[in-house]
Amino acid sequence: MRRLAGGRRRDTDETAQPSDRPVIRSASRPARPPSFRFDPVPDSPQHTDTPATPPTPAPSPDAEAAAAASPMMAQYLEAKRAHPDCLVFFRMGDFFELFFDDAVVAAEALDITLTRRGQHAGEAIPMAGVPAHSHESYLARLIRQGHRVAICDQTETPAEAKKRTGKTLVRREVVRVVTPGTVTEETLLEARSNNFLVALAITGAAPDRAGFAAVDITTGEVMVESVAVEGLAAALARLDPGEILVPERLVQRPELWDLLADWRDRLAVQADSRFDSTAAERRLEALYGVATLEAFGSFTRAELGAAGALLAYIEATQTGRMPRLEPPRRRAEGAVMEIDAATRRNLELTRTLSGERKGSLLTTLDRTVTGAGARLLAARLTAPLTEPGAIDRRLDAAGFFGEEEALRADLRAELKAVPDLERALARLTLGRGGPADLARIRDGLARAAAIKARLVEPRLAEPPAEIAGAAADLGEHGVLVDRLTRALVAEPGALARDGGFIAPEYAPRLDELRTLRDESRRLIAGLQARYAQETGIQSLKIRHNNVLGYFVEVGPGHADKLTGPPHGETFVHRQTMANAVRFTTTELGDLERSIAEAADKSLALELELFDDLVGEVSGRADAVGRAARALAVLDVAAASASLAAERDWSRPVVDDSTAFTIEAGRHPVVEAALSAEGGPPFVANDADLSGDRRLWLVTGPNMAGKSTFLRQNALIALIAQAGLPVPAGRAHLGVVDRLFSRVGAADDLARGRSTFMVEMVETAAILHRASPRSLVILDEIGRGTATFDGLSIAWATVEHLHDVNRCRALFATHYHELTALASRLDALACRSMRVKEWQGDIVFLHEVAEGTADRSYGVHVGKLAGLPAAVVARAQEVLEALETGEEGRKLTTLADDLPLFSAAARPKSGGAGAPASGAPAPGPSPVDEALAAIDPDSLTPREALDLVYRLKGLNGTG
Ligand code: ATP
Repeated sequence: MRRLAGGRRRDTDETAQPSDRPVIRSASRPARPPSFRFDPVPDSPQHTDTPATPPTPAPSPDAEAAAAASPMMAQYLEAKRAHPDCLVFFRMGDFFELFFDDAVVAAEALDITLTRRGQHAGEAIPMAGVPAHSHESYLARLIRQGHRVAICDQTETPAEAKKRTGKTLVRREVVRVVTPGTVTEETLLEARSNNFLVALAITGAAPDRAGFAAVDITTGEVMVESVAVEGLAAALARLDPGEILVPERLVQRPELWDLLADWRDRLAVQADSRFDSTAAERRLEALYGVATLEAFGSFTRAELGAAGALLAYIEATQTGRMPRLEPPRRRAEGAVMEIDAATRRNLELTRTLSGERKGSLLTTLDRTVTGAGARLLAARLTAPLTEPGAIDRRLDAAGFFGEEEALRADLRAELKAVPDLERALARLTLGRGGPADLARIRDGLARAAAIKARLVEPRLAEPPAEIAGAAADLGEHGVLVDRLTRALVAEPGALARDGGFIAPEYAPRLDELRTLRDESRRLIAGLQARYAQETGIQSLKIRHNNVLGYFVEVGPGHADKLTGPPHGETFVHRQTMANAVRFTTTELGDLERSIAEAADKSLALELELFDDLVGEVSGRADAVGRAARALAVLDVAAASASLAAERDWSRPVVDDSTAFTIEAGRHPVVEAALSAEGGPPFVANDADLSGDRRLWLVTGPNMAGKSTFLRQNALIALIAQAGLPVPAGRAHLGVVDRLFSRVGAADDLARGRSTFMVEMVETAAILHRASPRSLVILDEIGRGTATFDGLSIAWATVEHLHDVNRCRALFATHYHELTALASRLDALACRSMRVKEWQGDIVFLHEVAEGTADRSYGVHVGKLAGLPAAVVARAQEVLEALETGEEGRKLTTLADDLPLFSAAARPKSGGAGAPASGAPAPGPSPVDEALAAIDPDSLTPREALDLVYRLKGLNGTG
């Protein structure tokens, strides 16, 4: 609940602040954040250096009411009209207040008190507020809940207002619009994750391709690429952006609206003209100061439109200030492994299935020691490369630190102390930084110099290209570091306006002012001693508070001595409290004034010096940004070498073949979990999907390790292509263009899909998109429906993967019947998880061996899981009966028996591996089969009766 602090001080035009605010709890709960928003800021077709002009006023609250509002309320209504889709934080003294519906929404979202303030149009105005000094934490909560906030701050003091207009109503302006994709505050960001703002554009000329632009304004990275419309969801899943700008036109296309279903609460819908590619070109050229963008690559119209929309949005939300942005990097199509959202989720790349970071692949792999390093590692892991040369360059860097152990240890120790240069730089260039950010630049660059010195020491092995490049990018910043070192105290505060951050001896004038201020303080101490002596009141004190300033204070018993002769002339009464009486004197007033003047002057001077220093850093922003990036590269290389050494991982060979040979592969997360629990060691397994063994059908009991095996191979491919050492003894991998994983089953009730529907949608995506260079892992498909439907789907899927997709694939199943396909599909190999039966129990060996499992041991696992003994016993009985029923069936002939399979799509090419065509061989009828399987002696009377009904059903007469 909100506290209404006692002495709530207001340096504002407002005096009346009701202290006994009645609490209104609104009966109607505020609506959730809108699923998408229309941008309030009108587009400006031409690039200008000034902030976007105010938008067309929204109709509410109505103009008549606005005209009748108090001057301050009129200011508020103006700000709200300009930003109708934002919660407006309206600065009043020490608080940011929210009014009307905003107050209701914020009170609910932040659990703060909803109060009333005055009247508007005959109604009490709902109000809620947060303290200005701690507003960031409230902002964070609102932004996380999907709200946008316009900060309407006081831009002058009451004294300045009085001078300007003769009145004390201060000017207030929206100084910033805070949105999920454009936040820069440390408290609103996760240090180890990027926060991307993405824009999508599609031109009429190429309706099936989207221009995709992304920026992280806290690091300055700008990326542009073209994405096929059906690949959009995968591209978004890769970056997991905080906010996505889309043109109105685009959300009106139903198929695109569906494609963006998972992202709807992050969409910010913009006017189409914001994506105009000609205006975008001009905007980009002006930002980078170039006559043409050709130097950065050749961009499609849609790419330009998307990049331009990003810039326009940043300008509008930052009210004209641009952060440092690197030139756009254009990513060629297919340059990164395509991994759709379902696969990312299933493989738990950055979060576990339950949404936590701990236990994800990224967290298990992450040994980086800086925020920027962690962000780079995450970027690499979520966007593995497809070009072997680029992968090798990263692996060379990790290999170098693998060899140079002492260097690695020193470097990591230095890096640990490197602050987040990128984000400090972003805040400073946006005019939102503080002295602590300058100190971060100072300390980071000083460490960078030490690291560089260590890297360029002569050594036996030449550093590889990535390390040499990073060493060069660390640059030379001696002059800046020296200036910042001289200028700043060791640990300056966060806010420039608090002062006290400039070191002594940096600016002689500042030293003088400070001496004056300190001298005056000494004079006050002297004055106190003199007054005590003159009045004979030993307990007399000179104190200070924000309301009275300096004052003389004595106990009530001594007050008379100061009001009457001879001291009554000197001491002027100010205030009587229960236990003290306060006075002032002319001398004290003079001293106070000179202290205040010196303090004001020294603060003004400090702020001037601060601006100078920020200017100097901003002037070198590109070089500082490069150094920051180089430190991240070094951090990732050293961290992965360290991980490889610690866990005995190896350097993979990645090339353009379709090889897939892994020796002694392990699942990084399961292995780490087992070792953390002190459990049995992880059993390493080989995999070989090269050439004529490209599709493995993995059978085995429940709990035997099938899923683990499947995932570990997908993860090894992904880690290798991220350019990192892999958890395997040896790995030779041909580049994977797309990785697909379907594991387990999950309902997606929010989107109205059942478990089985989700499974089929994901399977369909795989069968449509997997190419011969792709890697597919399919775990248990067809389990969410009737046995025969499921088996049929699984069967047809295996055939399609083998004959049509022709990709490398691992397919785990409990349908042992599928192994019959091995005789016909020549690139299909059967593997099973080994178990040992021992004294009626089974022991999971977690070893992958050639061949097929004969049983699933599901009942056994049920027993292990604690099913009631009666259920286990009954299940065993039923199982035995069923198994007897199956006996004698010739499954190998099933493929040709069922019309479904003989009708299965033939590969278009009709190439090798196509199923042999021909009429199905005549076989026993289902009734014949059922009769053959009966063991009359073992039937109970009830089972016999059931059987009669079943036979009638099979015969079509039931
Ligand atoms: P189900 O068919 O029930 O889904 P599964 O065969 O897919 O089972 P997993 O889920 O992969 O089995 O593995 C079950 C457990 O066995 C894991 O949680 C892990 O603790 C252990 N395990 C799996 N593989 C190994 C291994 N190679 N070495 C050691 N333990 C393993």
